[in-house]
Formats: sequence, C-alpha cells, structure tokens
Amino acid sequence: MPTPRSGSDRLDAFFTAAPAGLAILDRELRYTQINETLALMNGRPVADHLGKSVREVLPTIAVTLEPLLQRILETGEPALNIELSGETPAQPGVTRYWRASLFPLAGAPRRRKSDRNGGAGGIGAIVVEDTPRRHAERALRRSGADYRAIVEQATYGIYRSSVEGRFLKVNPALVTMLGYETEAQVLALELDRDVYVDSGERARVILQTSGLDRITGTEVEWKRQDGHRIIVRLSGRVVKSEQGVVKGFEMIAEDVTEQRTLERALQQAQKMETIGRLTSGIAHDFNNLLTVILAQSNLIAKALPAEPGRELHRDLDELTDAARRGAELVHRLLGFSRHETLDLLPLSVPEWVQEELHTLRRLLPATIEIECDAEPAAGVVEADAGALEQILLNLATNARDAMPKGGTLHLDVRRTRLDAEDRPLHAWVEPGSYVCIAVSDTGAGMDAKTQARVFEPFFTTKPAGVGTGLGMAMVYGLVKQHKGFVHLYSEMGQGTTVKIYLPLALEEPVPGGARAAGAAEMLPGGNEVILLVEDDLHLRTVAQRLFEKVGYRVIAATDGAEGLVEYRARAAEIDLVITDMVMPKTSGVQLYEAIRDEAGRGTGVKVLFTSGYPAPDFRESLAGDPDVAFVTKPWTASELLRQIRALLESR
Ligand code: ADP
Ligand code: MG
Repeated sequence: MPTPRSGSDRLDAFFTAAPAGLAILDRELRYTQINETLALMNGRPVADHLGKSVREVLPTIAVTLEPLLQRILETGEPALNIELSGETPAQPGVTRYWRASLFPLAGAPRRRKSDRNGGAGGIGAIVVEDTPRRHAERALRRSGADYRAIVEQATYGIYRSSVEGRFLKVNPALVTMLGYETEAQVLALELDRDVYVDSGERARVILQTSGLDRITGTEVEWKRQDGHRIIVRLSGRVVKSEQGVVKGFEMIAEDVTEQRTLERALQQAQKMETIGRLTSGIAHDFNNLLTVILAQSNLIAKALPAEPGRELHRDLDELTDAARRGAELVHRLLGFSRHETLDLLPLSVPEWVQEELHTLRRLLPATIEIECDAEPAAGVVEADAGALEQILLNLATNARDAMPKGGTLHLDVRRTRLDAEDRPLHAWVEPGSYVCIAVSDTGAGMDAKTQARVFEPFFTTKPAGVGTGLGMAMVYGLVKQHKGFVHLYSEMGQGTTVKIYLPLALEEPVPGGARAAGAAEMLPGGNEVILLVEDDLHLRTVAQRLFEKVGYRVIAATDGAEGLVEYRARAAEIDLVITDMVMPKTSGVQLYEAIRDEAGRGTGVKVLFTSGYPAPDFRESLAGDPDVAFVTKPWTASELLRQIRALLESR
C-alpha cells in the first residue's frame, strides 16, 4: 500500500513536472527555488541558480527585470502575463522572448527593520518561452510589409472588388490606369456604370467564372475618367463563401491597349505576306500551264489544213484568246506578289501626276470632277512608271465604281514623314521621308469588314464580271515592291482616301518641306490642352497617346455631343479642339458651329478638323475662319503634330 504523500511532496512533484518555468525569489532577488524547465530556459543547471541573484544569472535581462521585481516587492502588486526579452548566457547574441507572471509571496520573514510594512516576503515567477511564436510573428509582419510594398509599387493595377460592383481596395497603379487622382475617387466608382464600357460585360464575366476559382487573362473594355477606352487583361482569384457563392474578386489588371493595337497591325502585315506568297506560287504554276497551252495551240494551228478547216481555226482562235486572257490575269496576280524586277528610275512625283491627269480624264465619266493638289517640290522617288500608273488607274477605277452618280476625285501629292509613332496606326512602317500620293473620292465608302479585307486578292463586293478583286491587291503588291506603304481611310457614305507612301529618293532640301530623315526624329510637341473628339476607339487611343507623349494635355471625347459638354465645362483651359468630321449624333461641323456660337465668331478656340475625304463646300465656307485647319486621314504622326503646332502658333 503506497504511503499517502504529504502536501509538500505533491507540491514538489508539481514543481518539477510543470511544463512552465517556476521559481521563487527572496527579497534580495535570489533564487531560493527553481524548477528544471526554467533552469533549462536560462541555460544553466538548477544548482547554478540557487542562492544566486537574478543579476548574476541573467545579467542582460536583469536590467529590465530588477526594477520590475523591486516594484512588486514594494507595492505588493503582481505583474501578470508580461513580456520579457533579452539574451541568455546560453545563447549570446540571440534575443529570446518570454511571457511571465510575477507575483508577491507573503510570509517571508523580514530581515531588517527598514523593510517596509506590507512589503512582500518574496516573489513567485511563472515563465513560458515565447521565442518561436514571436519569431514567426515577426517574419509574418515583415512579409506582410513586403507584400504591401509589392502591391503599392506594382505597375499592374491590383484590386479587390465586390460582386455588387464596387472596388474595395485598389493600388496606385490602378488609380493611374483609370485616370483618376486619388484612391478615394476610384473607391467611389460603380464598376458597371463608371468603369466598364459595356455595362453588361462585368455580369457576363461573373457568369462565365461561376464554376471557376480563378480568372486568367480575360480581356475586358474599360473606360478612364476622361472617357478614353482601354483594353484590360484581368487575372486573379474569385473569392467564394464556403457554400461556393461568389463574394468578390482579387484581380491584377493589365492595360494591353497598345499591345493589341500593335498586334492587329502586325497580323494584317503577316496576312498579306502569306497571301502574297500563296498567290505567287499559284500564279507561277498557272503561268507555266498557260504557256504550254498557248505553245501547243500554235503548233496545232500550223498543222491544220488551211482551207477546209476554217471552223476549226475559229475554235482554236477562241482557245488561244482565252489562254491569253488567263495569262493577263495571272500577270496581274503576279503584280500583287511578283518578285520580277521593276524598272526603277528616278521620277518626280508631282510632275508625273500632272501628266497622268490626262489619262484619268479620259478614263472617268464627266460626272466625276478631278482635282489635283501637288506640292511642286514634293520630291523624287525611285519608281517604275508603268507600275505607278497601274496603281493610280486601279485606285481611280475603284473611285469611279464608288461614285456611280458622280462626285470628286481628289489627288494630293506632298512630302511627309513616317515615324515610329505611326506604327500603331500604320503597321510596320520604316521611319523616314516619303512622298505621299493621296487619292480620295466622295463615294460610297467601305464598312470595317470590307476595309479589313480590301487588299486580299479576289476579294470583291462587286457583281461577278464587274469586279475581279485584284485591283487593291495589285496596288498593295506594287507599292511594297517600291518599299512603300499603303494606308487607307474610309467612312461609309462619305468617301475613301488611299495614301501611297513611296520612299524619297533624293534628300535635297526643300524650302518649307519636311526635314531630312534622321534629323527629324523629334516630333513637335507642346504643353497646351487639346480637346480630342474622335469616335473611332483605335484612332482616338493612338492620337491621345501620341499627344501625351509629346507633352500635350488631352481631354478625350467619343463624339461631338460629348465633345461639346467637355468644351463647355473646360473652355477656359482648352487651347485647341481636334475633331473628326463624321461622327454619330453631333458631327464635327455641328460641334464647330456650337463652339463658335458659344464664343462668338472669330474669337473662339482653334479647331483642327481631321477628315478622310475632300469636302469642298465645307472647306470653302470655313475658309474665312483663320483659326481652322484640316488634316486628312489617314494622318501620320508628324503631319498631325506639325499641323497642331502651326495652328497653335498662328497669329
Ligand atoms: P474590285 O474593284 O475588282 O472589286 P479591288 O481589289 O479593286 O477589287 O477592290 C476590292 C473591294 O474594295 C471592292 O469590291 C470594294 O468593295 C472595295 N473598294 C475598293 N476601293 C474602294 C473605294 N474607293 N470606295 C469604296 N469601296 C472600295
Ligand atoms: Mg478595283
């Protein structure tokens, strides 16, 4: 039968086995008792503690611990669950952390008279090691700070949003991306109304992702504060409740507008390249077949009896004729993609165009007026005159077909520059000086689908027998062989402008003309405020970027009505209005008239019209306003920027 243990025995057992550090100190702060756990924490055996003071055992920690213990002795008040930290002799250089409860013990005999009444007889201590938790916490805090820094300084927009359509948290990059000044402005936005261009798009994205946990690279269209649209690529996490109900989104938003614009230009160039190669392969094979047919029919013709076979001769003639027409067609196809050598000779474009006017006059019906505006010193190009004529005739024929009831064909020749800045609009141009031949009509125009395919061989919208679909393909191919570029601008019901850029051959200085390539890399800019009114997203985006790049401040509007609202709100700031002519709702002309009414004729803001086709009546009616100028679409960066500067600096 085990002997019943005394209370003191049990207390000793408890003292030894406790997983917390326990100790009793006397009034001189010496260890009178200490358990293994605490001795281990201090890094010394139990025996090394007994009779020694806190200061002797833990010199660094005693600095803070001693005053605390003194106060407990004096006041009799415990210090519960306090944090202690410091180095122990066992691990010098390592800061350790403890949680301790220190409390006064009664009953120790007073040693001296000076001992105060009510003072404690000693101190009990319960100590728990806290170092691992504190280290983990500190690491966590540090990494939290890192993440915050990443989010704050990220170049991508990062946000958290609610299902209902509010931003809950946004980083500075997102604020900038959306064109606002402060986070608070963005947090006040309603996504469906203020951020998404199409108010239903967000709901569709949510629907698509209802079964998913993350969104990867979904592209949506957003609008900035100034109305300017951007294409944004969203990736991130769908936040769901435990029941799987979508509660919100944690997203990274990347503005890919420029990237997409460039890609589109590149795709178009690649498509034409592929079609060209394919066509040329087929054309060569056909050419060989037709050559065989023609040669064989020649032999047969010779072998046929002269008189009795007249019938046969006629049949054979028809066969030969068809083969010849086939060969012609093939040659036109080869014009699109041929690598045959052209006869490149120096040719003064303005002179050449003047001569061609006679041919055009013969080709076009009297209902079509021909106008020509050629800068006499536009320049010389290395060109094959025959090929150039083919280009001009193809364009004129199309213009004629587009104006069955008559209209105006306008030719314009001038020297111009293409810059790297023109790439987003004009595919892969080589920066440099060019002579530009612009052929405009006031005809039916083309819709976007036609514009996208117009250079493809065999693409035609004309009835069979009328259209071959080779005219524009040839233009493209021939211009490319001159190391030039074709740009096209068209507006349904208004007209079409095709601009052919041929590299300038001789860089002799031209009075008033563009400067030489290389020297003119700097595009003229300024710090004025421009109101840009343009309904075409693509054009507006490119123009806004271009203006901002050279220093202007831009207010963008998507049509005349919005342009007028912006103008009325900020007329005092605005130095120049650049407006498209043809826009839904309020046209550029209506906008101009409203602005002039606002300001009083002649005293108003300067207005630069961008227009793709000649509108002679309108131009005449504006000729009296010195604060108006025109730039024809498709414009180039340097043309547009130079006109802006000229207009801003006039008078
Ligand atoms: P085709 O004239 O034989 O149809 P093209 O290659 O010359 O072939 O032109 C292709 C298509 O492009 C035309 O069918 C027409 O729809 C369109 N197109 C070309 N030029 C013009 C223009 N000036 N105005 C309107 N549409 C045009
Ligand atoms: Mg044609």
